Amino acid sequence: MTYIASSLIAVLAAAGSTYAQLPEPYVNYPNGLSPVFDQGFFAGTASPTFSIQQWPSGTAPQSCVNELAWNGCISGRAVVYNVTYTDCPTPWVFCRCDNADLSINQMADFFGRMPVHLRSVVRHPMAVHQDGCSAYATTGSDDGDIVMQGNCNTESIWLHETGHQLDARGLGNGVGFSTSPAWINALYADSCAADDYGNTALWEEFAQMTVVAQSDTIYNVVPQQAIPGCFNNQLAALEGAFKASHLTYGGTCISRIPSSPSVTAVWKRGISRRGVQRVGPCKFKNITPPHKH
Ligand SMILES: [Zn+2]
Repeated sequence: MTYIASSLIAVLAAAGSTYAQLPEPYVNYPNGLSPVFDQGFFAGTASPTFSIQQWPSGTAPQSCVNELAWNGCISGRAVVYNVTYTDCPTPWVFCRCDNADLSINQMADFFGRMPVHLRSVVRHPMAVHQDGCSAYATTGSDDGDIVMQGNCNTESIWLHETGHQLDARGLGNGVGFSTSPAWINALYADSCAADDYGNTALWEEFAQMTVVAQSDTIYNVVPQQAIPGCFNNQLAALEGAFKASHLTYGGTCISRIPSSPSVTAVWKRGISRRGVQRVGPCKFKNITPPHKH
């Protein structure tokens, strides 16, 4: 009975059914991604040199006004910066609340450790204060921001949120990769998700597999798998679409999302969320910052 049902579902999936492909029966990283991958990212990546220039108070990108206010960052507490890396002449505009757990130097470093082509799918990195850590991405056609809520001090979290932008924008045609046949079929062919969080939604699994694929791109190995190879179809699909174009280091920024328009910053609580498409809040277990020696 079960076998017949599975075969029928396979046929439906092949025919383009919207049958949900998650949850998978297994996960490859039962303790989450951070304990496995973050030490490697810390050791194996480095940000290009960057310069930081703080904006005068009173002006900010519109989306920073919206997102920081939505996070309760009120009057006078928001700070805006140009961060310019040596591999791209156009700065990224970062925004943080002045009580954010991440400093602007930390933010610029975590962001800068990603390949410049991957950074280019992000418009504004932001950080606010929160106990613990969650994060989200704004992925609508007029969005493109990633927001760290709390002490999100590991590379895997930055890669996950940027993975949501890669999903939404990487193909450049307005279609999210995680809802495409290529991703659905890969999930069907695999027996596991990356971890429990990835197993909750197509796009969360894509974001977690972005972390795995970035590690694979750097080290050419996927370590410590509970069930070796159980997500290899997803890995192949993601890398086939984005490894050369976004996950490989080198080059310069070749396309950037224009900054959100600068406006007179009025930092109020409860600014309208209209028109913004948020993915998250994403929550991660066993966040394991690498030790600095
Ligand atoms: Zn997520």
